[in-house]
Amino acid sequence: TPGPETAAASGPPRHPARPAVFIPVNRTPEMQAERLQLPILSEEQVIMEAVAEHPIVIVCGETGSGKTTQVPQFLYEAGYGSDSVIGVTEPRRVAAMAMSQRVAKEMSLAHACPCRVVSYQIRYEGNVTNETRIKFMTDGVLLKEIQKDFLLLKYKVVIIDEAHERSVYTDILIGLLSRVVALRAKRRRPLKLLIMSATLRVEDFTQNQRLFARPPPVIKVESRQFPVTVHFNKRTPEDYSGECFRKVCKIHRMLPAGEAPAGPPGHSRYRARPPLCTQSRGFPPAGLRGARQERALGLQAQSRALPHINLDSYSVLPAGEADEDREAEADGDEEAALGSDLDLDLGDGDSDGGAGGGVGRAQPAAPVSSGPLLPCASVFRPPPEGTRLCVVATNVAETSLTIPGIKYVVDSGKVKKRHYDRVTGVSSFRVTWVSQASADQRAGRAGRTEPGHCYRLYSSAVFGDFEQFPAPEITRKPVEDLILQMKALNIEKVVNFPFPTPPSVEALVAAEELLIALGALQAPPKTERLKQLQRSRLSCPITALGRTMAAFPVAPRCAKMLALGRQHGCLPYAIAVVAAMTVRELFEELDRPAASEEELTALRGRRARVAQMKRTWAGRGASLKLGDVMVLLGAVGACEYAGCSREFCEANGLRFKAMLEVRRLRGQLTTTVNAVCPEAGLFVDPKMDPPTESQVTYLRQIVTAGLGDHLARRVQSEELLDDKWRNAYKTPLLDDPVFIHPSSVLFRELPEFVVYQEIVETTKMYMKGVSAVDEQWIPALLPAYCQFDPPLEDPAPTYCPERGRVLCHRASVFYRVGWRLPAVQV
Ligand code: ADP
Ligand code: MG
Repeated sequence: TPGPETAAASGPPRHPARPAVFIPVNRTPEMQAERLQLPILSEEQVIMEAVAEHPIVIVCGETGSGKTTQVPQFLYEAGYGSDSVIGVTEPRRVAAMAMSQRVAKEMSLAHACPCRVVSYQIRYEGNVTNETRIKFMTDGVLLKEIQKDFLLLKYKVVIIDEAHERSVYTDILIGLLSRVVALRAKRRRPLKLLIMSATLRVEDFTQNQRLFARPPPVIKVESRQFPVTVHFNKRTPEDYSGECFRKVCKIHRMLPAGEAPAGPPGHSRYRARPPLCTQSRGFPPAGLRGARQERALGLQAQSRALPHINLDSYSVLPAGEADEDREAEADGDEEAALGSDLDLDLGDGDSDGGAGGGVGRAQPAAPVSSGPLLPCASVFRPPPEGTRLCVVATNVAETSLTIPGIKYVVDSGKVKKRHYDRVTGVSSFRVTWVSQASADQRAGRAGRTEPGHCYRLYSSAVFGDFEQFPAPEITRKPVEDLILQMKALNIEKVVNFPFPTPPSVEALVAAEELLIALGALQAPPKTERLKQLQRSRLSCPITALGRTMAAFPVAPRCAKMLALGRQHGCLPYAIAVVAAMTVRELFEELDRPAASEEELTALRGRRARVAQMKRTWAGRGASLKLGDVMVLLGAVGACEYAGCSREFCEANGLRFKAMLEVRRLRGQLTTTVNAVCPEAGLFVDPKMDPPTESQVTYLRQIVTAGLGDHLARRVQSEELLDDKWRNAYKTPLLDDPVFIHPSSVLFRELPEFVVYQEIVETTKMYMKGVSAVDEQWIPALLPAYCQFDPPLEDPAPTYCPERGRVLCHRASVFYRVGWRLPAVQV
């Protein structure tokens, strides 16, 4: 009789056909009708057959064709979620939350809110239950799950959405999942992987033999796109924000009423951190909070200059600074966590309902609750009677969110991106041209419901010079965080990893060197090192410290500080410091240009007050030496003392959203610390007592050890080459002078040695997050960067009875720059 053996003997089963179950979903007739409009519905059969036949499937379709909302439902109905979970990753938090709500609503599940079947999980919050069958999450969340369970056994299907965005985590996930799929097939518990993407450069996935030995099938979803007429400017204006405003006004005056002139995706990126706000009539939009947002729109000042526009007939909605909402960035010290002021609040009435519930229209933005924040629903609603909707959007509207009814797109052609130097990590915000592919995506937004127009504020010649595609994020950012995570997954030879697009070898080497210096990776023997680097086989194994560091959801430099924080009762402070460093920019930006005299006076007053508060928090003596780190600690402590209230933040120039994020991150870090080293038994009292003097000193050492590669020394008077070096600092990696940022409390102190959190290039290279270092600590805390004479491997310790310690007297030199340092104490 044929038993299980014979089945096994006939070779491994093909990927089992679609599960026989069919899970009915009770959609409302209206919803069903709406779904039937979506192009992807006609491809359901094709997609489901491909999924049944192949372990990996790529689905490509224009934005708005229904990929994100419909494919999880197809899989659910086909039973892939019956005793398992369908996981969907999004690069952005907003998208993860918005899409889970939307799908729950489409499936008529939203009435049970928080929905138990369709859930989301982002870094700190989520509503996942035991009954969850469709789980939207950020890519960072799934990456952490892989570290706990490499085979991801709780999922039957994983969908990587928005793969065309090429976020770092998405790229890594695709590489990892290509292996997981193979392993799961061997175990006879197949995992289905779906990669969903807008129609952009899928060849990086399909033509990559290291990634997928056999190219997976690509299903193209034809979308019903109406023609969009593209108009180029004859000339390319300097002031694109002004030009944009004029263009929008012109459209409003001249072109048929009843349609929506769409704000330019990317336009507000100029200085933008606009919140998603509730509907607002008038101009400046009443629902916006604070000058920052108005400025972000870049339209307010011009509105005065153009009084003939009937502004009451406009309804202006900004739609999110998307790039800073990424989890990938939130998990690294290199990027802001919620650096954006992306307010995801709906109107009052919606905060507990599904998206687009139609309540709470035209109210001023509601105060943000600290509970789950819901994405902007107002852009999905029709604008108030008699007005025309104008959406001022960032990249989020380029592909992740589809705003209905857009007929005109004004495209500035610009994108604002943080640019990193691959090796030094120096970052600067640069407004650059987008790629041709992005410009076409932007134009496409105008043709969703009827033929539309796209006005490009640049000439066709300029367009011809655009890059074809945007560079994947992994090639633009320092990768030390990523490398540590991969080593923790026991991927030693990172160069051999099947990246869809590999980072440069320089970036890999720089990352590996930093991790070695931090003690997270084992250093190769000195003699071998050079040869090894030449072969660029980066394969240093992870250390025990490295594993501990990898468990913390922060960048390696910060993780090192946490790992060192256990002594002297410093851990709660270390956690607060790391949380504040990770959530970048706790302080509001106050050196912005003012639109009027009154505003200028108000700004000056606030600046003075903030500077005063910073001085108070920094204190004097020992604590002032901790510098900006002490300010962070003081700000976090004082803010918690005041109950983390919006009023306190506003009064002290702190960003309320950032402070909420710090609070959540402190909670999460405390939990992680307790899990990693249970003996720490740490309870973080949000209301910390100020650290004692010896604790401050120890904190300074922790910060020095964590930021050791960011050491800078003040240029001595005898070294002053010319005037540009006055008050300047020298760093090992840069030839140019760097300066303490004027916002730093050490701006006037000018200590000889400092460590900095980051260098930002504006008019000069400025160090931010500065803390003073005592010279004698350097060889002891940062031996990896010092050359010892005699070498450290050959210690000849001398016992020093007065101090009861072994002292090694040796001359040491800080590498590359040759700074002579005092004797080391071991
Ligand atoms: P894709 O992933 O292919 O870009 P989506 O599945 O995100 O497409 O969107 C499909 C359709 O659903 C779009 O036309 C969009 O306008 C609509 N939609 C998405 N989210 C919402 C929402 N929260 N409210 C109303 N309509 C929505
Ligand atoms: Mg989508």
